[in-house]
Amino acid sequence: MKVTKFGGSSLASATQLEKVFNIVQADPERRFVVVSAPGKRDSSDTKVTDALIKYYKNYVDGKDLSSSQKWIINRYQTMVDELGFPGKCMKKITESILNLATLPIDDNEFLYDAFLAAGEDNNAKLVAEYFTYKGIPARYIHPKKAGIIVSSEPRNARILPSSYDKIEALSEADEVLVIPGFFGVTVDNQICTFSRGGSDITGSIIAAGVKADLYENFTDVDGIFAAHPGIIHNPHSIKELTYREMRELAYAGFSVLHDEALLPAYRGRIPLVIKNTNNPDHPGTRIVLKHSDHTLPVVGIAADDGFVSINMSKYLMNREVGFGRKVLHILEELNIRWEHLPTGIDDLSLVLRSRELTPIKEEEILRQLNSKLEVDKAEIEHGLSIIMIVGENMKSHVGVTATATAALSKENVNLAMISQGASEVSVLFVIKTEEKEKALKALYQAFFGVTQDTRA
Ligand code: ASP
Repeated sequence: MKVTKFGGSSLASATQLEKVFNIVQADPERRFVVVSAPGKRDSSDTKVTDALIKYYKNYVDGKDLSSSQKWIINRYQTMVDELGFPGKCMKKITESILNLATLPIDDNEFLYDAFLAAGEDNNAKLVAEYFTYKGIPARYIHPKKAGIIVSSEPRNARILPSSYDKIEALSEADEVLVIPGFFGVTVDNQICTFSRGGSDITGSIIAAGVKADLYENFTDVDGIFAAHPGIIHNPHSIKELTYREMRELAYAGFSVLHDEALLPAYRGRIPLVIKNTNNPDHPGTRIVLKHSDHTLPVVGIAADDGFVSINMSKYLMNREVGFGRKVLHILEELNIRWEHLPTGIDDLSLVLRSRELTPIKEEEILRQLNSKLEVDKAEIEHGLSIIMIVGENMKSHVGVTATATAALSKENVNLAMISQGASEVSVLFVIKTEEKEKALKALYQAFFGVTQDTRA
């Protein structure tokens, strides 16, 4: 039994929907289909979710709504027309879009969520009718009926653990169930969405709930690339990743799957595969609990920009009880999150995202470091990037960091910091942003260069 989720680009047009139908038809184990709202047909197009945001804004601002309503309804109607099925669902879709503009505006913290959720909700109705018309008996099911009960956190819902029992009962359905992604219902019966891109989360929740054998996440790439294709020419896609590796890569800029989507499947011990709707025969990337082979020390190399480091030094810092706590306390008081904390004997750095700081906060940090902690030197360095080499099998290989640093030094890349956690899933380098491309290319060549073609 498989749960199969299709992203917005897989559902953007009639041609894409035909591919989706063929994929579901090809495997009778695909019993649960989770859908996003229709995405962009080309780069100049608008995602239905974004059109709904515009519609919402016009509604609360008291502006004219007719063009927003028409555009959104027409988006679904065009697909029905191009696919040539009766489109009985269009009556309900039209009503649902128009009804949004009758919901109360005042004291309604879930209004935005109700607008946003309509994109997936109506798409699921359309897909279910289309599948049935083409010969796969399918049924649309609303998240409330499916049992997706979530916390009352507008735009940022979380699944309530008690939901899973009800979701499990879905496995008794005879037809293919088509479930809209991206939202659930609160105990008070309010529509509440996950954060943006959250249809991935719904798929993962359903997979965990029905105890699926596999959660398939269909998108528009052949799986997860081992490095950013914008920098590395034609990188290979990774065959297999563990959940922990995926988490590390996602942290450092790999964004194929929503961050929060890993957890339900991971807890339910459900393997996940990322596949391409436009190339369904490609095996894609499997995300598993444990590697099936132990040969590759590094599976992927991620890089992310927008970091700063707060560097300080103080003679005999190591002898001072509570020094680290006092530094962190300064940040806590200023409501600043930090990410990495490399240390030396007499120096300490905090690496954080630059968005956490403002010029006023920076000044305050330096002032307090000097006055309260009496450091010898304190400075804030901007324009940094992180590069992470990731692989669980690193811990059974000697010399991985040596390979990386040798490759970087050959290219004259200066390493501002190196950090490796005790779990040895990744090694992180902090470098100047202007050296990122060079560094990424050097590392890719060092770890994958020779065998790149055979892996592709
Ligand atoms: N349609 C929603 C968004 O654009 C959710 C999703 O596609 O996963 O964020």
